[in-house]
Amino acid sequence: MLYDLTEEQEMIRQTVRKLAVDRVAPRAAEIDETAEYPWDILDILKENALMGADVPEEYGGTGSGALALCIIIEELSKACATTGLMPAVQELGLLPILLGGSEEQKKNFLPKIASGEHISACAITESSAGSDVGGIQTRAVKEGDEYVLNGSKIFITNGGIADIYSLFAKTDPDASKPSKALSVFIVEKDAPGFTIGKYEDKLGIRGSKTSELIFEDCRIPAANLISKEGMGFAICMKTLDFSRPGIAAQALGIAQGALDYAIGYAKERKQFGKPITAFQGIQFMLADMTTQVEAARQLLYKTASLLEEQTKDMSRLPAEVVRFSSMSKNFASDTAMKVTVDAIQVLGGYGYIKEYPVERMMRDAKITQLYEGTNQVQRIVIANTLLG
Ligand SMILES: Cc1cc2nc3c(=O)[nH]c(=O)nc-3n(C[C@H](O)[C@H](O)[C@H](O)COP(=O)(O)OP(=O)(O)OC[C@H]3O[C@@H](n4cnc5c(N)ncnc54)[C@H](O)[C@@H]3O)c2cc1C
Repeated sequence: MLYDLTEEQEMIRQTVRKLAVDRVAPRAAEIDETAEYPWDILDILKENALMGADVPEEYGGTGSGALALCIIIEELSKACATTGLMPAVQELGLLPILLGGSEEQKKNFLPKIASGEHISACAITESSAGSDVGGIQTRAVKEGDEYVLNGSKIFITNGGIADIYSLFAKTDPDASKPSKALSVFIVEKDAPGFTIGKYEDKLGIRGSKTSELIFEDCRIPAANLISKEGMGFAICMKTLDFSRPGIAAQALGIAQGALDYAIGYAKERKQFGKPITAFQGIQFMLADMTTQVEAARQLLYKTASLLEEQTKDMSRLPAEVVRFSSMSKNFASDTAMKVTVDAIQVLGGYGYIKEYPVERMMRDAKITQLYEGTNQVQRIVIANTLLG
């Protein structure tokens, strides 16, 4: 299978790399320190049409594809993981509409999300439903031409920032299987009865907002149901199959950013009268780090290429594609954690100090092993596709 980068993908990489170096990197430490959502950076992403790379042109995106989206996220995350997450979560929030929505819903909602005029979010997790999506308790009850929502979500990226939420809720508490109990809805930020609860204070990706969502007799038009009742679980799983490579790309970018910094530092730092790169102990660490990062990249690019061959609808994905999606997220995020810890080791005590970026990169890396399914969950998915 071929996945050499096309001229367009190479051009996207060079453009985003320059933007990341010139305009994102100088803001990265400040975004981390203030933990404020970087609206100025969002403007840069919008101006450069980077918020809808994998949305077809007919729905307002650039139609550049899954691999281009991964390259964008990777290059941004090298400089700032909060920034890399912005196009990744935009994709996560819009995928339920793209995969399961009616033509009317796609035409109504996708163009503004693809341009970045509207920010999206995806609301699955609840206090008692994390890895176990089937445990969702938020209720949606149909009343006339509306649905009434009651319940709450936690840990929602872009909570309070987003204009449009893809919300997963239970429509049939008596369903024979938990997977048939759920449905997914488009909820607009000003829906009556919808409020934002607590914001989380986090270890990493600190400029990204993570909040609770509260629904108290929240009324939304019945027309905002995506697909039909009972399709929520299937749409959720397929959304994650398509979105996990975005998190792998974020992890890859963080790892590459830390590796690049460690190499530059090691060439300058002298001990025992020579640069520390003269010591085999350091050389071997850098050799292992670069091997792991490149392996993560190859797995991710192959995954993204496989995804580009799939149709974005509710047809079943081949088991191999599901497996690659989970393998890429699993491997890239474990790599990001390992490489960022090793980058601190290469810098010695300086790596532990906030003046140097590798401690931030290590804190940012951790989340990639947790969200969009923990790495234990990825291993379950991988094993299931192998063993049936
Ligand atoms: C910063 C941040 C942003 C997030 N953004 C979003 C978002 O935008 N939208 C959203 O819906 N959610 C979001 N989440 C939630 C995230 O996806 C969940 O936290 C994650 O899926 C794990 O769920 P949990 O935290 O309840 O952990 P739990 O499910 O309680 O897991 C606890 C531990 O048990 C392990 N475990 C659980 N079940 C099994 C099993 N069957 N076998 C082996 N091990 C198992 C887990 O791997 C983990 O180590 C976000 C979380 C964070 C921290």
